Amino acid sequence: MASPSTTHNIEEALSAAGLRRTPQRIALLDYLLRHPDHATVDELWPALNKHRVCASRATVYNALHSLVKAGLVREFKLDASAARYDALLHPHHHFICDSCGAVEDLEWFEVPVLRQKQPGRRSIRSYEVVVRGHCAKCR
Ligand SMILES: [Zn+2]
Ligand SMILES: [Zn+2]
Repeated sequence: MASPSTTHNIEEALSAAGLRRTPQRIALLDYLLRHPDHATVDELWPALNKHRVCASRATVYNALHSLVKAGLVREFKLDASAARYDALLHPHHHFICDSCGAVEDLEWFEVPVLRQKQPGRRSIRSYEVVVRGHCAKCR
């Protein structure tokens, strides 16, 4: 089960994003925060139903989609593999393996050039770096 502080953070994040706090959204964010291995829908759906939320695959998919649209979850789509999902409540960067498609978290670091004045009228809300290569297993 989620710790009270995690649940609190999740509910705050949903409210701040203007989303209703449905059990599916809360359970999805909770699961993704606890399992930083960037699961696919086919991994998320049984995992969610095993715990407490009874939801069809379509319901899980719709809940995920609303979280992605609100910027709370990041969707990784790599060519031949299924999309993977990741909660973005804590900023971090990513490493993606070219061979197996594994997505790993990288600790946050600033990219100073993005903090400087941007050309034209562009303004930056957030950013994340994607590093590509071969993971330890595929090397
Ligand atoms: Zn790999
Ligand atoms: Zn991540």
